[in-house]
Amino acid sequence: MQFRDLKRQYEALRPQIDEALAAVFQSQAYILGPPVQALEAELAAYVGVAHCVSCGNGTEALSLALAVWEIGPGAAVFVPDFTFFASAEVVAACGATPVFVDVDARTFNLNPVDLEQKIQAVQAEGRLRPAVVLAVDLFGLPAPYPEIQSLARKHKLLILEDGAQGFGGRIGAQRACSFGDMATTSFFPAKPLGAYGDGGALFTSRAEWAARAASLRSHGQGTDRYDHVRIGMNSRLDSLQAALLRVKLRAFQDYEWEAVNRAAAAYTQALEGSPLLTPYVPEGYASSWAQYTVILPRAARRAEVQRELRARGVPSMVYYPRPLHAQPAFHSPAQEAEPCPVASDLCQRVLSLPLHPYLFPEEGARVVAALQAALQTALQTALQGAL
Ligand SMILES: *Cc1c(COP(=O)(O)O)cnc(C)c1O
Repeated sequence: MQFRDLKRQYEALRPQIDEALAAVFQSQAYILGPPVQALEAELAAYVGVAHCVSCGNGTEALSLALAVWEIGPGAAVFVPDFTFFASAEVVAACGATPVFVDVDARTFNLNPVDLEQKIQAVQAEGRLRPAVVLAVDLFGLPAPYPEIQSLARKHKLLILEDGAQGFGGRIGAQRACSFGDMATTSFFPAKPLGAYGDGGALFTSRAEWAARAASLRSHGQGTDRYDHVRIGMNSRLDSLQAALLRVKLRAFQDYEWEAVNRAAAAYTQALEGSPLLTPYVPEGYASSWAQYTVILPRAARRAEVQRELRARGVPSMVYYPRPLHAQPAFHSPAQEAEPCPVASDLCQRVLSLPLHPYLFPEEGARVVAALQAALQTALQTALQGAL
């Protein structure tokens, strides 16, 4: 069993994918060709914003957004402590300061109460200017944007939505990647909408920001290719990835989103009453299930649960084993005074299970049975240790 079976997806979509790629080979327009423009229009329409600017990967999409807003030294950017490293890396890379915010113990996303406390602490200290909330749609679930938006208005902050894992999520009828003033996503192969290589995109309803991002991704291009009006970078999506992503976007809309939600719902139902916590999706929210992440009981040793799962042929992953504030690249005595206890606790207890739109129901049932047996073994070990 694969953790995320990309081969099965390729087999299902092979005729369309092969045809789309062959058309690019025929056209020979490999960089920012017609499929790239077509994909950008389709992505913007799906997400429900006016503009989409594709780029090299999800990390550079975040960097482009920060560059559009000219975020740099002296700016505080509020980032959840529990996310992939890139969410905070881009902040430090542009010279700004990431301020780590604790997360909600059930949704894994930014905790608005701690967000306001961290904003007030930065204001009180007076060293940095609170500038941006970089909210992450972790594991496919949108961050709590109604609360984040009201805090952003109150404290005059911009919202950058890191939708690398969030593409396809919803709050009510509104889709992820439309909640931030700017939003980004990633087409890394294992993300909800994945390419066969790297890729990313930025979304915004502001034409001026989209134009600046488009210029920045092509060496600060002005009116023509050899007119450079700003210092930018090279971060482009290529036509092969775009052509492939158009096929995958169609499948994502037609049936993959439903299929992955069905598989996730089956896990949640089958795990009811077991001593672990299943993922919590708040009323009115919908997830695109980039990951299905459970929280193990404190007594069960996670390494043992994983070993028992492996022995039963079930792969599992730990997203994430360490809070960002404790990463060597960020670790500082100043941050030690501001721990994020929920994020730290989750890092000890989370476990992600195999999930993708092509998971067979009998595979899901096998995962559940293996997990229940693994948990029982791990809890017995804990009990024996205590006696
Ligand atoms: C994957 C990911 C990124 C980075 O995307 P890449 O395309 O790999 O650069 C950023 N943020 C989060 C939350 C991610 O999961």
